[in-house]
Amino acid sequence: MIFDKSIKAFHEAQKHIPGGVNSPVRSFGSVGGNPPFIAKASGSKITDIDGNEYIDYVGSWGPMILGHAHPDVVKAIQETAALGASFGAPTELETEIAVLIKKLVPSIDMVRMVNSGTEATMSALRLARGYTGRNLVIKFEGCYHGHNDSFLIQAGSGALTFGTPNTPGVTPGTAHDTLIAQYNDLPSVERLFEDHKNEIAAVILEPITGNMGVIIPDQIFINGLRKLCDENKTVLIFDEVMTGFRIKKGCAQELLGITPDLTTFGKIIGGGLPVGAYGGKQEIMDMLAPKGPVYQAGTLSGNPLAMAAGITTLRLLDKTPDFYDNLENTSASLEEGLQNNMKELGFDGVINRVGSMFTLFFTKENSVKSFADVKKCDTTRFANYFKMSLQNGIYLAPSQYEAGFISAAHTKEDIQKTVEASYMAMKKLKE
Ligand code: PMP
Repeated sequence: MIFDKSIKAFHEAQKHIPGGVNSPVRSFGSVGGNPPFIAKASGSKITDIDGNEYIDYVGSWGPMILGHAHPDVVKAIQETAALGASFGAPTELETEIAVLIKKLVPSIDMVRMVNSGTEATMSALRLARGYTGRNLVIKFEGCYHGHNDSFLIQAGSGALTFGTPNTPGVTPGTAHDTLIAQYNDLPSVERLFEDHKNEIAAVILEPITGNMGVIIPDQIFINGLRKLCDENKTVLIFDEVMTGFRIKKGCAQELLGITPDLTTFGKIIGGGLPVGAYGGKQEIMDMLAPKGPVYQAGTLSGNPLAMAAGITTLRLLDKTPDFYDNLENTSASLEEGLQNNMKELGFDGVINRVGSMFTLFFTKENSVKSFADVKKCDTTRFANYFKMSLQNGIYLAPSQYEAGFISAAHTKEDIQKTVEASYMAMKKLKE
């Protein structure tokens, strides 16, 4: 493959944009090499400016569950754009998407639209604090909830109770208000509740993680969180920015059988346009301005183009017969192919998959269930696998600590080609 134009474009971009990218994950910083600059995408494929075509497993980091440039979504955006891009006044589209989200996710009594997942989690936390009159939030090591100061806290080595700012710019005061627990480790949460009685406003988590790779919660862990939050009058926030409408029509909460107090959304509900949302219990949502005292606003919130793309996407997910079953079948066949490759080659690895979200962990362990397990992965091996995959026309997320996404547009041929390319890469890595 030739990357001449992308190399030139990246060089030029770096003169004007920090690191040449508008989001660090795009830079290939952890795997090395030059990111292809994308010219266009259609269905399961993306094409770079040198004309190289790839089978895409990034899907814009989750939103493109229908595949790229779905004709209905494109039409909805075009027709809506012709009527004006933004009014800063209410539209019926906003009610339409709220009704749709409520219909699909029973825990949502009321929903507020924002412009990104980051805004959704930031606002949900403020609301939980306003509602409870408490300051502290528990998050889990390895979970990502956007780039709000409160969530850019990771524990250092071992089980630190209090976070420390490891991103310059986060004040020690903010870091102090974020407590770190371990995913799939209920006692680590119980200890924080014991140490901070009546101080914890919220527990936030990815109900199935994607941002340290895919990790599935033990039922005992997730049930335990619900119980702890009930006992302590703490708001349980499911961050479903990634898992929302990806895992199931009723999101991860349907699969896990847990009703959170608040849920955050993003990605799929905007059909590829910038969007976020948060919603949940009536009593909590009633605290939001202008009805209540907790302030949150947005010039472009509920933007008509994003609403039109989101409504069209959600309708298709809702109405297409067997949508999630078909996605499961495609995804299962990819997993099976990769498992067979590993077995045949004696290749060390663990695949975690829930529906169309998956991660191949390059590890000698038998399972990956915690952040500590994730940290044992061989990231150099991953980087080499990633580079070989790219050369073979397979576009993966450029980090071991991410999920891959399969869309409804991925075909049997795409899966077959991906499994073959993976076999070649694994074989080379074994040599
Ligand atoms: N929460 C989760 C679970 C996410 O995966 C992401 C983005 N990957 C965010 C929040 C932040 O969303 P955004 O990038 O739209 O701000």
